[in-house]
Amino acid sequence: MNHLIRNTCIVVLALLFQQCTYSQASLSPNQLKSSNMDTTKKDNPAYSRKDSAPVNLTDEQWKKILPADVYAIARQKGTERPWTSPYETSKEVGTYYCAVCGNALFKSDTKFESGCGWPSFYEPVSKGSIIYKADNSLGMERTEVECGRCKSHLGHVFNDGPPPTGLRYCINGVILDFEKAKDAEKKYNAF
Ligand SMILES: [Zn+2]
Repeated sequence: MNHLIRNTCIVVLALLFQQCTYSQASLSPNQLKSSNMDTTKKDNPAYSRKDSAPVNLTDEQWKKILPADVYAIARQKGTERPWTSPYETSKEVGTYYCAVCGNALFKSDTKFESGCGWPSFYEPVSKGSIIYKADNSLGMERTEVECGRCKSHLGHVFNDGPPPTGLRYCINGVILDFEKAKDAEKKYNAF
């Protein structure tokens, strides 16, 4: 009799556990853990440096996948404090990717020191890498720039940049992932 009760308990517990598992979102719990800003993004299923297909996740899904600081800027159009990004003054040679989805955004040779407090570039990697939107918030007429793949807020573009474009892409460093050209070359040669 004791055996029967114990076995029944085990079955009930197993069923409860299964139910809990099923009630999770379609992403596995491992994928929902907060990411730690590395370049592989094992915890972020939307992140890929190879896949260029548009990414469309719900706000709830983004909130679970992204670190809090990235979510606040990328999905809630926040702005990081000026002079807080190490990328603002960095002169390293390489590529800047969207920290949310891995889309290539800017090359280091289009980066310049604008003195505005945020990483600044005069030209994106390609036309499709950025989306432009009119932004009339805060009583200003500005042009917002979003990632061309995942539509995350990146920053704004202004008309006071250097030649050859005359544009200044003022970008939040938090939503940038940088890979040194030398590291990329090493990975390429390792294949
Ligand atoms: Zn993106």
